Amino acid sequence: MESAEIRRRWLRFFEERGHSVVPSASLVADDPTLLLVNAGMVPFKPYFLGEVKPQFSRATSVQKCVRTLDIEEVGKTTRHGSFFQMCGNFSFGDYFKEGAIKFAWELLTTPVADGGYGLEKEKLWITVYKDDDEAEQIWRDVIGVPAERIQRLGMKDNFWSMGVPGPCGPCSEINYDRGPAYGEEGGPAVNGERYLEIWNLVFMQYERGHGDGKDGFEILGDLPSKNIDTGLGLERLAAILQGVDNLFEIDTSRMILDRAAELTGHSYGADHRSDVSLRVVTDHIRTALMLIGDGVTPGNEGRGYVLRRILRRAIRNMRLLGATGVVAKDLTDVAIKAMAPQYPELESDRKRIETVVVGEEAAFLQTLKAGTSLLDAAVTETKQAGGAVLSGDQAFKLHDTYGFPIDLTLEMAEEQGLQVDESGFRRLMQEQRDRAKADAKAKKMGHADVAAYREVADKSGASKFTGYTLTEGEAT
Ligand code: ATP
Ligand code: MG
Ligand code: MG
Ligand code: MG
Repeated sequence: MESAEIRRRWLRFFEERGHSVVPSASLVADDPTLLLVNAGMVPFKPYFLGEVKPQFSRATSVQKCVRTLDIEEVGKTTRHGSFFQMCGNFSFGDYFKEGAIKFAWELLTTPVADGGYGLEKEKLWITVYKDDDEAEQIWRDVIGVPAERIQRLGMKDNFWSMGVPGPCGPCSEINYDRGPAYGEEGGPAVNGERYLEIWNLVFMQYERGHGDGKDGFEILGDLPSKNIDTGLGLERLAAILQGVDNLFEIDTSRMILDRAAELTGHSYGADHRSDVSLRVVTDHIRTALMLIGDGVTPGNEGRGYVLRRILRRAIRNMRLLGATGVVAKDLTDVAIKAMAPQYPELESDRKRIETVVVGEEAAFLQTLKAGTSLLDAAVTETKQAGGAVLSGDQAFKLHDTYGFPIDLTLEMAEEQGLQVDESGFRRLMQEQRDRAKADAKAKKMGHADVAAYREVADKSGASKFTGYTLTEGEAT
């Protein structure tokens, strides 16, 4: 089943059951506490917090999401993309636990010919929060899932909360057993790759207080109106329904992967390391496209830095795979082709998107060209001295002179089997910031014109500062 069809069936199923269909919000969150939308419920937050009364009691959406926390997992696990689409159904004081569980089970297990996703019931495993007897009872007695396929998990996996004071409540997740090829049996509690988590049902039922009672926090009582928030990963379900191993091989990704392999002369599946790189490229190009599509431009802070890092990581992985020329526009064009059927604005916005991608690649290649020989020299020097750690000084110089962000230095050093003295690097960064502050203060107080001095110093070569600065700590 194609991704587009999974999406259509989702929306139709919930629309037929009284849910208002709400289009995806932009990835750029309308929320000061959040860099990028990372879950389907984000646009509905004011309703869940009771700040705004919704004009519907049931809603459904397929929301674009970016999770920067998952960037490091990409390509290594089969199930984490930095961009993905979360299909959701929401109830605002309408149906609760039993209603949400019944809908989920019906949609997943109804045969394909009858409008569902046709998953085999025997392959579905359920987790509930350790104290949620009610949810377990519904799964067992109302739905008929055998007790041995229902597991209890703790706070970390199966309890949700938002703010203090704020709503909170237990979750229940539906997982799909992909079989022994993915490792040991034992259920989702022990093996997250084999038992693929596809759908999380959140039961918002309590009000959380400031105290630290049982499990480290205080529950004040029941919420005046109980709500449902669910999220199913469209790409994960697509991987199952399309019979492929991971998110990067599904219909909306595979084209990008194949093009990356073609451009670098690799055949996917031949070598583990190259495969990971190909998957990283596939994922990151798609994510960069969706971010640019929503108006993000590369920069050194916040969202702009997320985009910069993702796009540069894609380009660097292409180079690790052997690419020597420019690649970003070519790959982005394929990504537009893959995603435009669901997001037609990408097609009409093509020119702008390409300009951003091409400009960022050119800037990055310039940086790489300048810094790589210095990095290589530092690596050789460290290894020859029998060391395993690149000094903070070296990392700082790469940053200050060649604009190498610390992430890039860390990654490139790691590829050579070296670590980096990160705390030394951060100390030098702090010293530089302190100096800049002192300079600014001196200037304000009418002392020597530091900027003019610096210009002279630059020309005479006393300082090689190029002006590429990063706001450390703001980058995720
Ligand atoms: P995992 O434990 O696998 O990291 P999660 O518990 O962090 O997933 P939730 O926050 O419960 O995920 O999000 C709801 C659903 O969204 C998940 O059940 C999954 O199907 C999907 N999902 C979450 N993170 C990703 C991701 N990085 N890539 C693709 N799909 C994802
Ligand atoms: Mg996760
Ligand atoms: Mg999980
Ligand atoms: Mg989850």
